[in-house]
Amino acid sequence: MYQIIDGKAISTALKEELKVKVDEMKSHGTVPCLAVILVGEDPASTVYVGNKKKACEFIGIKSLSYELPESTSREELLELIEKLNADDSVNGILVQLPLPKHIDEDAVIKAISPKKDVDGFHPQSVGALCIGQPGFVSCTPAGIIELLKRSNVEIEGKECVIIGRSNIVGKPMSLLMLRENATVTVCHSRTKNLAEVTKRADILIVAIGKPKMITAEYVKEGAVVIDVGIHRLEGKKLCGDVDFDDVAPHTSAITPVPGGVGPMTIAMLMKNCVESVSLNS
Ligand code: NDP
Repeated sequence: MYQIIDGKAISTALKEELKVKVDEMKSHGTVPCLAVILVGEDPASTVYVGNKKKACEFIGIKSLSYELPESTSREELLELIEKLNADDSVNGILVQLPLPKHIDEDAVIKAISPKKDVDGFHPQSVGALCIGQPGFVSCTPAGIIELLKRSNVEIEGKECVIIGRSNIVGKPMSLLMLRENATVTVCHSRTKNLAEVTKRADILIVAIGKPKMITAEYVKEGAVVIDVGIHRLEGKKLCGDVDFDDVAPHTSAITPVPGGVGPMTIAMLMKNCVESVSLNS
C-alpha cells in the first residue's frame, strides 16, 4: 500500500509553526512585512495573490498590496520596487509572475534586493544556492524538500530523477537534491528514452507542464513520486503531470494534485518572509 503525501496537512503544520515564531517576534516589537505586487488582472495570478495574502493573515505577517493596471510601464514598476527596497519596514518583496508582455521579467527580478527576494528568483539567490551559500531558495523546490523530510523519505544516496529544467522548479530542485546528497539526473524535452531514465529513480520529481503524461511505465516499483504539475481539466477538476490512478499503486509514496506540492509553495514563501526579517534587521 502506498503513502499519500499530504501537502495540505504538512503545509498547515508549517504555517502553524511560523505563526508561533511570528507571535514571538511581535512580542519583541517586530512585525514581518511582505509587499505583494500584481500587474494586470490575470485570473490565475489574482487567485494566487489572494491565497498569499490569506496565508500572511493567518501567520500574522503584514501584507502590503500593490494592484497595478495592465498598462503599468516597466519604469513605473521598477520605481515601486526601488521604493520598497529602500523601505526598512518591508522585508519581503514579491512580484507575481507572469508579467504583461511589455515588461521584461528578468529586469524586474534583478531589481528586487536579494535581501528581500522571498521568491528566490534573483540571480544572486540562485548563485548562492549553486555554491552552497545561504540565500533564499525558490519556494516550490524548497517545499518539496520539506515534504520529503516531513514524510520521512530518505534522500541521501538515493537516485533522484527530475523531469523539467525550468529556472523556478527543475534547476533549483536539482541543486537542492544534490545538497541533500542524492544522485541527481535532470531530464528535459530532448532527453532520449525518457522512461528508461525515469525508471532508475528512487525519487521521481515531475515538473513538465503536461497533464497526466507520466504513466506507470515511467516509474520503478516502490519509487517515491512527486508531482509538481497543476492543470485544470474541463469540468474544473485539477490534475497533475502524473496520471495518479495509474502510477500510485506502483509507488511507495506519491503526492496528489491538488493537495500535494501546491500548498507547500505558499507555506515556503511564508517561511522565507519570516526568515527575511533577520536579513533586513
Ligand atoms: P516549464 O514549462 O517552464 O518547464 C517544463 C520543463 O519540462 C522544461 O524543462 C521542458 O524541457 C520539460 N519538458 C516538456 N515536455 C517534455 C517532455 N515531453 N519530456 C521531457 N521533458 C519535457 O514549466 P515549470 O517548471 O514552470 O512548471 C512545470 C509544471 O509545474 C507546470 O504544470 C506548472 O503549472 C507547475 N507548477 C506548479 C507549482 C506549484 O506550486 N504546484 C509551481 C510552479 C509550477 P525543455 O527545457 O527542453 O523545454
